[in-house]
Amino acid sequence: MAAPLDASKLQITKTTTPATPLPNNQLKFGQSFTDHILEIDWTVEEGWGTPTITPYHDFKMDPATVVLHYSFELFEGLKAYRDSNGQIRTFRPDKNMERMNRSAKRASLPQFDSEEFIKLIHQFLLLDERFVPSGKGYSLYLRPTLIGTSIGLGVSSPTKAKLYMIASPVGPYFGAGFKPVSLEATDYAVRAWPKGVGSYKLGANYVSCIEPQAEAAKRGHSQNLWLFGDEGEITEVGAMNVFFAFANEDGTKELATAPLDGMILPGVTRDSAIQLCKEKLGKEWIVSERKITIHEVKERAAKGQLIEAFGTGTAAIVAPINNIEFRGEQITVPCSAGGSGEIAKSVCEWVQNIQYGDEEFKDWSRVAA
Ligand SMILES: *Cc1c(COP(=O)(O)O)cnc(C)c1O
Repeated sequence: MAAPLDASKLQITKTTTPATPLPNNQLKFGQSFTDHILEIDWTVEEGWGTPTITPYHDFKMDPATVVLHYSFELFEGLKAYRDSNGQIRTFRPDKNMERMNRSAKRASLPQFDSEEFIKLIHQFLLLDERFVPSGKGYSLYLRPTLIGTSIGLGVSSPTKAKLYMIASPVGPYFGAGFKPVSLEATDYAVRAWPKGVGSYKLGANYVSCIEPQAEAAKRGHSQNLWLFGDEGEITEVGAMNVFFAFANEDGTKELATAPLDGMILPGVTRDSAIQLCKEKLGKEWIVSERKITIHEVKERAAKGQLIEAFGTGTAAIVAPINNIEFRGEQITVPCSAGGSGEIAKSVCEWVQNIQYGDEEFKDWSRVAA
């Protein structure tokens, strides 16, 4: 019978050449890695094999391995944080594992027990804890990845797979303070569509977004605001979820983000921002998941009803927006708190306080043990 993933079988081989972690001011996103790699191989006959943590190393692969031909690849992105007692914490890792298993199912790759994988992640963190930097905004970015490793050019479900994780120490996305971003509302290319795979973290979803981003960059924008359909539905910004705050004529205010209709990546930061804003914003605020169009944003900005806008994601937590170009016209987005709006600033603080263990909220922060 095919074996389930079992963290208790973990075998550790420590590096004999430990690296010196870089000082905080030299950290660049995804450029340096810790001493080790976590791997678990799977076959259709045997199921999940022995989990191993070994020195970080290259993969040797037959050129006909399916991941290289048909994009049998999916990934996750989460972080580990050092709290004020020096303990290492992860933030809502169960949400990432739930999402990874959804992606695995859609990509015809094997699923696994989430809690067993979280145990392995925490073991990895205890071993490489020297690489978890100290300081607010600093963290260890974790990249769990699942690839199809069977060999052959037939287009079918992989009979072999590898689940692995590497980790990269990172600093704050924006350095000191927020730097709001300018967007190009993009309708000449589409990131995701109904009944497609936009809601899964498949590597194949990202390759097609780079060329439009380079086009937007040529026109001076840092990201694409992805639109869908004839009505100009707003879906996401770059690889982040997007929120808009509006003032209503009756004095109420609304924080709105696109609904999880299959086109939207269900961000852990998105979900956290929604829950925290529902609890912590004032009584006049309504938090909603609904369709927002670029035309609504443009009209309400013109009427002075657009309060602020921001993206959310693990890398930056929030990315404040100060401008959107749509068909040659500029929509100015207010940033009332300086480099960001008030809500973006608050969400960032609330989420960080929980991530670094300064505030307990539900069971969101977990200590590696
Ligand atoms: C990963 C990702 C997000 C953000 O998800 P988080 O879980 O908040 O990091 C949003 N949109 C896309 C397209 C993504 O790939």
